[in-house]
Amino acid sequence: MTQEQTIKRIAIFGSTGSIGTQALEVIAANPDKFSADVLTAQSNDELLVEQALKFNPNVVVIGDEKKYTKVKEALKATDVKVFCGEKALEEVAAMDCYDMMLAAIVGYAGLKPTLKAIENGKAIGLANKETLVVAGDIVMRKAVENKVPIIPVDSEHSAIFQCLVGETRNRIEKIILTASGGPFIGRKPNYLVNVKREHALQHPNWSMGAKITIDSATLMNKGLEMIEAKWLFNLKPDQIQVVIHPQSIIHSMVQFEDGSIKAQMGLPDMKLPIQYAMAFPRRIKNDFPRYDFKKVSTLSFEEPDSKTFRNLALATDALYKGGNLPCIMNAANEIAVFAFLRNRINFLDMTNVIEKTMESIPFIAQPSLEEYFESDGEARNFAADIIKL
Ligand code: NAD
Ligand code: MG
Repeated sequence: MTQEQTIKRIAIFGSTGSIGTQALEVIAANPDKFSADVLTAQSNDELLVEQALKFNPNVVVIGDEKKYTKVKEALKATDVKVFCGEKALEEVAAMDCYDMMLAAIVGYAGLKPTLKAIENGKAIGLANKETLVVAGDIVMRKAVENKVPIIPVDSEHSAIFQCLVGETRNRIEKIILTASGGPFIGRKPNYLVNVKREHALQHPNWSMGAKITIDSATLMNKGLEMIEAKWLFNLKPDQIQVVIHPQSIIHSMVQFEDGSIKAQMGLPDMKLPIQYAMAFPRRIKNDFPRYDFKKVSTLSFEEPDSKTFRNLALATDALYKGGNLPCIMNAANEIAVFAFLRNRINFLDMTNVIEKTMESIPFIAQPSLEEYFESDGEARNFAADIIKL
């Protein structure tokens, strides 16, 4: 068998989510190229079982330990090994039954399994941006030490990655991260204060999990993505620019030292960056709908309003100051989004919670991994106390 004919064994961490289910669609459409060898889910046992019966993985993990017996029972006629609990995610990440991890768990919970996969020498397709926001220096250093490629799945970072193919000798002047602006583009605080969960969950261009959809509405998503880009592409903060592009056709751009700008374009569809990361360096033919210049003939751009969407200003601060500040910001954001989704705080309160937490947790300029874990915990407790969760 040549290298190209080998089937790549994919471990999907977070297989029941928006990214995870789309990754399985890509695998199902390309059975000669990929197999799904590990599937994990936090609580949706029914979908996990359905996926396991269809894809026959080596291993599944159900995070919620109460559901273990149910999953085990449902898969008893198969060879699928069933594990449960948080620790099992790391144990499975350390196994040899897969070639590439698709890191598609949402939030901080994705960090430890991804670190284990890197230590285990496995390539990473990285959807979980929080991993780099929390501990980007350590994650990237470990990837270099273990000669592990980290291929972005986030559409903006996939776009930049694609623009950089063939440009290894050329310096980046800056990158331009595009943002749709979310459902509340152009709105002011007097409107935002009354926004409800259901309204915030409607994204104009992308259908995604609940947390990232709220992050898109507050522009925290773009803030997290600036920090993600800093680590992935080894950039200085002032090389990262955000521009609002409501049509989501240009997924991001790179400007080189000669002033030339490369953009990667296409209809918004996460299956493309997922497929690109899994197949890199090859492109796979597909029948996804194509962008037609005659149908969407206007591509527009504007400055983000970081006075109204203050999360973007907070994230810029974290980007510049570095240390454990992005980790603190991320933890407070996870708590704030969780509280907003449960109607415990209003849309603008999310920013206040994050800001207070960032001001209160002690700054560490060069944290160890242990110190990142501690900062995350302290920030969560502090943010939860403010909200009285
Ligand atoms: P989602 O909420 O739809 O799915 C999350 C997955 O993670 C589920 O399988 C869930 O079972 C699992 N999970 C949740 N909490 C967990 C925990 N504590 N421990 C273990 N597993 C847990 O989320 P999503 O929209 O698919 O996003 C996944 C990641 O990809 C996020 O980091 C997000 O920022 C990033 N991302 C998503 C999109 C998108 O289009 N959805 C685009 C770019 C980046
Ligand atoms: Mg993105």
